[in-house]
Amino acid sequence: MGGIHGEGLQSGRLMLNASTPVLDAHMHVAGLGYGGTGCFVHPKTLNSLPFHFLRTFLGFTRKDTFERLDELVLQRILDLIREAPSITHGLIFAHDAIIDKDGTRNEALTQFYVPNEYVLKLAREHEELLPAVSIHPHRKDALDRLHECIEAGALALKWLPNSQGMDPSDKNIIPLYDILAEHHIPLICHTGGEHTVRVLDHRLSDPSLLQLPLERGVTVVCAHCATKSGFVDRDYFEVFVEMAKKWPNCYGDTSALATLNRARYLPRIAKMEELHEKLIHGTDFPVPSSALPLMRHFTMSELSRLQRIKNSLERDIQIKRSLGLSEVVFENAAKVFSITRQ
Ligand SMILES: [Zn+2]
Repeated sequence: MGGIHGEGLQSGRLMLNASTPVLDAHMHVAGLGYGGTGCFVHPKTLNSLPFHFLRTFLGFTRKDTFERLDELVLQRILDLIREAPSITHGLIFAHDAIIDKDGTRNEALTQFYVPNEYVLKLAREHEELLPAVSIHPHRKDALDRLHECIEAGALALKWLPNSQGMDPSDKNIIPLYDILAEHHIPLICHTGGEHTVRVLDHRLSDPSLLQLPLERGVTVVCAHCATKSGFVDRDYFEVFVEMAKKWPNCYGDTSALATLNRARYLPRIAKMEELHEKLIHGTDFPVPSSALPLMRHFTMSELSRLQRIKNSLERDIQIKRSLGLSEVVFENAAKVFSITRQ
């Protein structure tokens, strides 16, 4: 385990004394506000099929979910990271509400909310956790909030445009991009299909909307490499590949790729060695990883070895290693999120 040295979080830069830290750079925390976390899940979402599926996968009973979800999710994340031999840290995501263009919070459409203060606090309390904050650019005080979060140690800003309703190509966001570029804070942006939360606007899945922050000098991480998730989604993977080639500051993350919906991309990505230096490892916890959708790419003994790995973070990284993703993919996050070693 790579310990955080000295003061820990210091103005968005971490000093680690381990060899290169290996991050799961795409992890979701969630909760219902127990223990004063401020987290929120809309009652409709709580009863939705994807939520039920995730709860079942995590093994949380309905009673436990409704009585102490926040604590259960946190403990699971910590246990998984501590017990995964290949992972040293998790980048955990806040999730802002849906904010309308006039700056008001849309209570009806907001499905879930994880406050920045909560992920920043968790990162202060647990050396394994690193904070990515979420600030909707429609917020009237977005720039002030961003400054405060950077000051408090935020390592990245995370958006889910097709569900949160922000358009990354909106020129009004330029001042926010300039702050990110100035402080070397990457923007992690969901690209491609989305099926865990409701999509408000499919056009906002398009990675080419991220040209504006790239032009402003922001390091951009296209989550899921803009891959297609459901039958009706558009496939933006090739668009992402072209962007990653063109822009030195454009990266993609491998989160949720070892799942039924996106698994077909992994063998392709494994062969694209020139792309590996532009990839960052992540799982999309709590989305479960499995080698089964990739079974024809493994021998029976390798398939059974992978499926016997109980720890879902370890299983995910081992699936990707076994398919041939280079070590640079697993080491890249430390560089991209400016986590410096002693
Ligand atoms: Zn995600």
